[in-house]
Amino acid sequence: VNSDKPSNFNASLVKVDRGDPRYAELAGRGSRRFAGNPDHVYVVQSTEQVVTAVQAAVKEERRLAVRSGGHCFEAFVSAPDVRVVIDMSMMNDVYFDPQRHAFAVEAGARLGEAYRKLFLGWDVTIPAGVAANVGVGGHVVGGAFGFLCRKHGLAADHLYAVEVVVVDESGVAKAVVATREPSDPNRELWWAHTGGGGGNFGVVTRYWFRSPGADDETEPSRLLPAAPATVLTFKAEWSWEHFDERAFVRLGRNYGAWCELNSDVDAPGCDLYSSLFLYRKQLGKIELRGIALGAVDDGLFAEHLAAINDGVGVHGTHEAQRRTWLSHVFNPFPGIPMGEEDATFKLKDALLRKRYSDAQLAVAYQHLTRTDVDLAGGSLGMTTYGGQTNAVAPDATASFHRDAILTTSCSAGWVDPHDEGKCLEWVRRFYAELFASTGGVPFGKAAAGALVNHADADLADPALNTSGVPFSAIYYGENYPRLQRIKSRWDPLNVFRHALSIR
Ligand SMILES: Cc1cc2nc3c(=O)[nH]c(=O)nc-3n(C[C@H](O)[C@H](O)[C@H](O)COP(=O)(O)OP(=O)(O)OC[C@H]3O[C@@H](n4cnc5c(N)ncnc54)[C@H](O)[C@@H]3O)c2cc1C
Repeated sequence: VNSDKPSNFNASLVKVDRGDPRYAELAGRGSRRFAGNPDHVYVVQSTEQVVTAVQAAVKEERRLAVRSGGHCFEAFVSAPDVRVVIDMSMMNDVYFDPQRHAFAVEAGARLGEAYRKLFLGWDVTIPAGVAANVGVGGHVVGGAFGFLCRKHGLAADHLYAVEVVVVDESGVAKAVVATREPSDPNRELWWAHTGGGGGNFGVVTRYWFRSPGADDETEPSRLLPAAPATVLTFKAEWSWEHFDERAFVRLGRNYGAWCELNSDVDAPGCDLYSSLFLYRKQLGKIELRGIALGAVDDGLFAEHLAAINDGVGVHGTHEAQRRTWLSHVFNPFPGIPMGEEDATFKLKDALLRKRYSDAQLAVAYQHLTRTDVDLAGGSLGMTTYGGQTNAVAPDATASFHRDAILTTSCSAGWVDPHDEGKCLEWVRRFYAELFASTGGVPFGKAAAGALVNHADADLADPALNTSGVPFSAIYYGENYPRLQRIKSRWDPLNVFRHALSIR
């Protein structure tokens, strides 16, 4: 039943060329920053169509890239030399597959729809990302962290199998299924899809999810974490005008210290997920957003906020509201835009094992209060990490970073394309100075590297990364040589490549 094609299925492969009314919609879908100029876009609806599209591109020697949700931080799909785009957005089914005894999610599904179907159909979920429009296709292969990761690990930790269209050394495209079963000869390809990053090995057509340890469960509703019925969503806000450097550093130190104390694998604080948005002073405010699970009252949030406020001396406001799971996932941070249409930004990511030092927070203060640049959309964001994410060994999946307690980012956002230059200059300098003691990149004892899902092509650019630490070490640590072996086995012609792809 589940493998039946939906009624709107078009058995002919849709090929959209320049001049087709759909071209403008599809060529650069997902980003206002990167336009994209492919010769054509294939809109695929089945694995067979993906094989046909990949085969045609390889035969014609046109560089190809695949797009699912269009939420890439970089121009990996919209690079000027990409001649063919495979658009997965019509392949978006979510269903229980009795043969594999796992939940199948097609690559073109958006997270919001996956959450909705898994919840309404079976009362389960995957602990994936926070923005409902992110595509499952490019997201899960990058590890995928979100609201529930402190409680349940990464989405990739629950990946049972993956179907991928690959190209062999003779240039022949074919679909393969790789599972985590120890006896599976394709197991390494499954492993690569638990954190190796999108656009590296082939075109993922579907993922199957079943939690490790749930293999013997017979009930589908016990194969994945239960979705929370409700969550407490909270927000706190402080006005920038009351902050001096001392108060700012104290706030940042308190937040990091809370994470240091509350991010052990089974810490009760892992029922809470939050982000502290230290916006530029020009924007006028500092914000905390997040959710607390489980508790019927707001005790965990109250403790979290009290710890963050301790000794800061700036009065803020706060509010909390109990919301259903789906109303939360479709609008997680009311008032903060999360759609790809808003994605004109540069984000530079860093995972931390320890909180930012006071000296680093002083650097942040300086950049966030700089008055010689006119730039409202800049920030340092800090988000809780750790918990069950750190219960997995670094080599058990391709997501290497299993000892971080914070995921943080310097980011700049803009509306007018003319502002791009000054925004990039500001955010690059901020990041470089924040990590000045380790050559301008997050590496060493306190910083653990960065998330490959938060791709930053600067790290592979020798003009911008002068640290001597290669991007591969920052994203993959000691897992990189294994990923390279898998890459040469499964994509020997390097068909799937981009600025940060596995060499
Ligand atoms: C607003 C926003 C919020 C985000 N929140 C989170 C978050 O909470 N947690 C988190 O972990 N990340 C988050 N991300 C990052 C996101 O996970 C990555 O950008 C991810 O790669 C996006 O996948 P996509 O399919 O939407 O993007 P796309 O632009 O379609 O693809 C991104 C990359 O993956 C490749 N790719 C896409 N589809 C496939 C496929 N089917 N097979 C193989 N490769 C493929 C592309 O070629 C490209 O290299 C967020 C991004 C944005 C813009």
